[in-house]
Amino acid sequence: MRYSKKENNYILRLFKGEELISSLLRFCTDTNTPSAYVSGIGSVESAVLGFYHLDKKEYRWKSFEYPMEIVSLTGNITQVESKPFAHIHTVLSDPEFETFGGHMKSSIVGATCEIFIFPMSTLVRDFNEETGLMLLSCENEAQSC
Ligand code: ZN
Repeated sequence: MRYSKKENNYILRLFKGEELISSLLRFCTDTNTPSAYVSGIGSVESAVLGFYHLDKKEYRWKSFEYPMEIVSLTGNITQVESKPFAHIHTVLSDPEFETFGGHMKSSIVGATCEIFIFPMSTLVRDFNEETGLMLLSCENEAQSC
């Protein structure tokens, strides 16, 4: 993993064989980045993606054990119990240009992965009973139409 800082933002480059989510979390700890918006492209050697079944309150996980392009990777870093927490979604494409997408549990980087990281002040997640998920804690309630 290597990175550059540009103004207040970071460009993170991951190497072949590195696990994407744990690398991203390690980067946030090492650079003292509590929260951020992240956006990336690159490729993976393998990945585990999830779909959350709200009725069962559980993910269905699917492993993709072959190289794919990261067409899009987007998400955020927030804090859960004072530790960085990554919520990353992605769209991957296979050699036939078929795409698959979902919640990224993990992935092993292929040729490279370039992630742009836009830090912000601390955002926190709390457990939500209704969904069974750690949801963003937002202090302001919007007026309904
Ligand atoms: Zn998700």
